[in-house]
Amino acid sequence: MLSKEMYELGAKRSAIRDLFEYGKQQAAIVGKENVFDFSIGNPTVPAPGCVKEAMLELLETQKSEEIHGYTSAQGDFEVRKGIADYMNSTYNCQLKADNFYMTCGAAASLSIILKALTESPEDEIVIIAPHFPEYQVFIKSAGAKIVVVPADTENFQIKMDLLEKAITSNTKGIIINSPNNPSGVVYSEKTLKDLADLLKKKSKEYQKPLYLISDEPYREIVYDDVKILYVPDYYENTIVCYSYSKSLSLPGDRIGYILVPDCVENGKDIYTAVCGAGRALGYVCAPSFFQKVIMKCQGKTSDIALYDVNRKLLYNELTKMGYQCVRPDGAFYLFVKSLEENAVSFSENAKKFNLLIVPSDDFGCSGYVRISYCVDPEMIKRSFGAFQKLRDLY
Ligand code: PLP
Repeated sequence: MLSKEMYELGAKRSAIRDLFEYGKQQAAIVGKENVFDFSIGNPTVPAPGCVKEAMLELLETQKSEEIHGYTSAQGDFEVRKGIADYMNSTYNCQLKADNFYMTCGAAASLSIILKALTESPEDEIVIIAPHFPEYQVFIKSAGAKIVVVPADTENFQIKMDLLEKAITSNTKGIIINSPNNPSGVVYSEKTLKDLADLLKKKSKEYQKPLYLISDEPYREIVYDDVKILYVPDYYENTIVCYSYSKSLSLPGDRIGYILVPDCVENGKDIYTAVCGAGRALGYVCAPSFFQKVIMKCQGKTSDIALYDVNRKLLYNELTKMGYQCVRPDGAFYLFVKSLEENAVSFSENAKKFNLLIVPSDDFGCSGYVRISYCVDPEMIKRSFGAFQKLRDLY
């Protein structure tokens, strides 16, 4: 009658969504100001002024069909050229419009590239845990096998020995995500170099390219003096999945891209397969209006300093209370060690104090909770009493 697999996927709500919905119900009972909702990664820092300016200018100066009509399936040429020019001047690379395929955000970018690369049900895609939960959905839906490799929990960098063991002749690619959701960790240059060395060695051993899929929706959200690295500089067979959801606070406008640089082995064919997968998945022509908006906002971001205030507030206060976590260098998440082995039960206990923190099990790693700090700093300050009460339970 219908797809059992899709039914089950639709019926199973994510832990994040569950908590988010619970928070809304609880706010109606105890008042919004008494619920400390750290569940979802919905940016609260407003989109930068350039977004509104671009929208108004486009609405006032362009014909309806130019902003609301279909663009080319792979995205408007001028938009893709604009992004290529920006990337070339920022990262000193040589990209062209035809290296880019515009998408409805990183979720679409990942779904498309995974479908484009998967040839057989034997193909394996490696992910590093903790990982964005939807990777499992996207890989399965592309028809490949999921291979999960735990990160080094000392620092949440990649454990190269474990990764090496996980790579087989069936490995098609590996997804990395830095700055990372949920750990907030940014991969060091050493990690990227070691990863590149390992992938080159394994590609040689198996006589085939191993593709590195770099999922980068948090690329610009880094703190202190952390340098943003251009991953294809380290490993040629890198395909970048980007999104403006977080950097420009536009998650609901669904806009991002896939970048297949020329240095990627079989890059032209992969780009063609990306066009095919976009078609097959019904993702042709990313939202036209927002393609044009983001073109006018290249190099701009929301005010990341505001997330930094939250990061410092939470990290300093929670570690003072005795909570343990790796200091995050990017994104807007804190990955805190659960005070009991079972993070689901820990998160349930937190709910007693209207504190909504996500257990790490869906991220492929047990024993932690994720705190999403893209929230109002006043809520963070109000939440400290609840964090202390939770701490005192153990
Ligand atoms: N990848 C990671 C690591 C994410 O955290 C998210 C969203 O939270 C996505 C991909 C999907 O982003 P988008 O809203 O651009 O589809």
